[in-house]
Amino acid sequence: MNILVINCGSSSLKFQLIDAQSEKLIAKGLCERIGIDGSQMTYTPDGGEKLKTVTPMADHTAAIKLVLDALTDEKTGVVKSLDEIGAVGHRIVHGGENFASSTLITEEVIRAIEECNDLAPLHNPANLIGIRACQELMDGTPMVAVFDTAFHQTMPEEAYLYGIPYHYYEDYKVRRYGFHGTSHSYVSHQAAKILGRAYEDLKIIVCHLGNGASVSAVKNGKCVDTSMGLTPLEGLIMGTRSGDLDPAIIEFLCNKEGKDVHEMLNILNKESGVLGLSGGFSSDFRDLEEAFDAGKENAVRTMKTFSYRVAKYIGAYTAAMNGVDAICFTAGLGENSSFVRNMICSYLKYLGITLDQEANSKRGEDMVISTEDSRTKVLVIPTNEELAIARETYALVK
Ligand code: ADP
Repeated sequence: MNILVINCGSSSLKFQLIDAQSEKLIAKGLCERIGIDGSQMTYTPDGGEKLKTVTPMADHTAAIKLVLDALTDEKTGVVKSLDEIGAVGHRIVHGGENFASSTLITEEVIRAIEECNDLAPLHNPANLIGIRACQELMDGTPMVAVFDTAFHQTMPEEAYLYGIPYHYYEDYKVRRYGFHGTSHSYVSHQAAKILGRAYEDLKIIVCHLGNGASVSAVKNGKCVDTSMGLTPLEGLIMGTRSGDLDPAIIEFLCNKEGKDVHEMLNILNKESGVLGLSGGFSSDFRDLEEAFDAGKENAVRTMKTFSYRVAKYIGAYTAAMNGVDAICFTAGLGENSSFVRNMICSYLKYLGITLDQEANSKRGEDMVISTEDSRTKVLVIPTNEELAIARETYALVK
């Protein structure tokens, strides 16, 4: 069965068509600037050339129509008709406490996703638009919602509660939710497979280090803690997000700079993280590594502060699980930067970790990068959220 995986943002839409049985990618692409001047779609059938179409897309329905036309095109398409698409898997950012696993989409499910809109005002409404657009164009095709938050719903109360008046949790559901759940789930399962151990017997820490970054602790097959919170702003220092800080800093800076809370949160989301720490130099770790090598002071302090924060979370989660068997690195930075992995692991000697530098220098495949005698295993596992969504979708519709 072919599964169409849709990841719908406010003005963009990523898609992949995946054969669920063979898990082979059939085609993928991206629609950008939906509803804005200069909309375009890139579409790549597997093994074929990337095709670019510049054409107006007034809304997400228009974008999905273009995607479906491309997939069924006589010359460059990959299926004869829409009948060959058995189901659609939608990535949904926030499922709140309503969803602890993926689910078949019904009107009731849509209403429950809508209830979570104010927890993710930028993402959930866009995800819902994607669902509605597919329903309009693919009437009768089963659809599944796969949530970024679902994997973390197993966290115990002591991990998800904040130290604020309890009625804020009761009244408004203010608590830790965590994100990147599909990736944390995929990578931790994959780690167990690579190590040849039962998932339920392992203590695993997953470091998802991309533009957005989060760490999770997975004990005996269940997520027990994660670094992102009510929103994706908490935790690690990210590309442009601050991660953890003293909440009193917000009022302090608002007063100093004559800004309101909304403006300050915008700064914490978009102008902070490694971009802010490096004095506005770059949010891209490739630039920062190059500048670090050249001995630039701003890059040195940024990379050190970033890595230290990751190492601190690993320490905290080792304590939370009373030990750790494996630490996994994934996402853009985690998969590609042997430099950052080295820097983080330099704090972890107490876990008996030594890296195999030859393995650590390779890229693009699942790998154990610690030495044979390393007490704690360290792995690099390229994440594949689309495949994970296709698997979840297939499991519910087959
Ligand atoms: P997201 O999906 O959150 O936008 P990705 O997982 O694609 O992010 O990661 C993007 C980040 O990965 C880039 O900002 C860049 O800093 C980092 N990155 C990608 N390739 C490399 C590389 N070869 N070396 C160091 N960092 C890299």
